Amino acid sequence: MPSLTVNPDGKPHIHEFVRIPKTNSFRCAHPNCFSVYNKKYLKGKESLCGICHINRIILGYEELRRAIPRCKQCSETVEALRLKQISATLKEMGI
Ligand SMILES: [Zn+2]
Ligand SMILES: [Zn+2]
Repeated sequence: MPSLTVNPDGKPHIHEFVRIPKTNSFRCAHPNCFSVYNKKYLKGKESLCGICHINRIILGYEELRRAIPRCKQCSETVEALRLKQISATLKEMGI
C-alpha cells in the first residue's frame, strides 16, 4: 500500500495519525493514504491534529497515548471546558 506524499491539491501531505483500536499502531486518517506505523516508530514525527485538521503536531509520549493525537489548542479547549465545569460546580456549592 502506498504512502501518500502529495495531497490531491498538490500540497505536501502530512499524515494525520489516529490509533487503530486495541493496537499499538496508528494509521493515517486521510482517505487516500494507507500509512500504518507502530507507535514506537512515530515518536518525534510530525502529524496533523486529529481534531482541527489544521495544526501540525510532533508526536510525543502524551500524544501517542491518545486515540486521536491533537494540538495544544484543541487539548486546551477540552481543558477549558473542564475548568468551566469545575467552577460551575464550585458556584453551586457556594464557594
Ligand atoms: Zn497520510
Ligand atoms: Zn487541533
